[in-house]
Amino acid sequence: MNQPVAIYIHIPFCISKCGYCDFNSYAMRGEIVQRTVDAIKQEIRKSPWHGRPAKTIFFGGGTPTFLSKEQLVGILQTVLEFHPLTEDAEITSEANPGTADATKFEAMRKAGFNRLSIGAQSFLDSDLHRLGRAHRATEIVKAVEIAHSAGFDNLSLDLMFALPGQTIEAWGENLQRAMELEPQHLSLYCLTIEPDTPFARLAERGTLVQPEEQQQVDMYDLCDTVLNKAGLERYEISNFSREGRECQHNLCYWRGEEYLAYGPGAVGVTEQTNPTPQSRRIRYTNLKAPRAYCEAIENETDRWQESEILLDATLKIEKIMLGIRLTEGIDVKKLEIEPRNLDPLIQKGWVEVVQDRLRLTPQGRHFCNDVAAILI
Ligand code: SF4
Repeated sequence: MNQPVAIYIHIPFCISKCGYCDFNSYAMRGEIVQRTVDAIKQEIRKSPWHGRPAKTIFFGGGTPTFLSKEQLVGILQTVLEFHPLTEDAEITSEANPGTADATKFEAMRKAGFNRLSIGAQSFLDSDLHRLGRAHRATEIVKAVEIAHSAGFDNLSLDLMFALPGQTIEAWGENLQRAMELEPQHLSLYCLTIEPDTPFARLAERGTLVQPEEQQQVDMYDLCDTVLNKAGLERYEISNFSREGRECQHNLCYWRGEEYLAYGPGAVGVTEQTNPTPQSRRIRYTNLKAPRAYCEAIENETDRWQESEILLDATLKIEKIMLGIRLTEGIDVKKLEIEPRNLDPLIQKGWVEVVQDRLRLTPQGRHFCNDVAAILI
């Protein structure tokens, strides 16, 4: 089995914890950071998937650029030792503006990183402060300048909308400010209040109020107007890019392909060594807490927190749920979608079928989850 594959590396550290965040990330310092870096490299060295070529490598987190240049480059070099790159492989790192550093970005570029995804979130300091972000708006502009000077010509920015107190005008201003930086890609996230976060507690007390639903819909729709004018097209429900600059790594997820994963809490989906007629793949999640993960790697005990055999029927459902998010849509014939299931959706104006591909209409994008639920 030597098919090229996507590879995800999870770096679980951040400068501080944002109020809305429920990702596997920790505001930790000291020896645990280097210990985790060493454990990730060890996990890669002991991996059963040596030799699988990497078509994409994605360092996510957490904040990968929280690490020093030596730590980041060291992990990438270890990946490359065991996973040869395909031609035109995409190598991304997430980066937070507060951690942008010229020598670090230069070393990363030299080592092979060719794409940065910068967590801008907002160009208003008041929003950033409320979100608990560790950077200020001026640092976003500086981070982009540093990235360009280091030789990165493929940059993505993350922005968040539906923030407490945010108006449609302020959101429009944010989009404009992002476009002035001429990124190749933009990811847009609607703020969701996750359980057990400080934001959830504020919302329960009634001190965190998001814009009303219609305003959120208007914010979402405004993205097309502003971004299309700037030359970016929506290729996924929350992602825009210039032509040919779609995130290749995330496309692997949405297209239901395999992906390998290393690092604390990293989730991978891969072909089983002994597939059965009903199931070919397995999903695994590494131990989430950095210390527990390090101990498992160091002691060569089981590093998986959980794993799940994915029945082909489950994979089909996931392919529909993820694939319908893409502007390219899903193959109606390959996924054996019953035409009679489509009629009510077509009548509502939520989906259309073009050359056997089923995709959401602009109106249908607001009902993506409902569409997926009906289809499956
Ligand atoms: S920077 Fe990202 S991963 Fe880190 S705490 Fe904030 S939202 Fe979570």
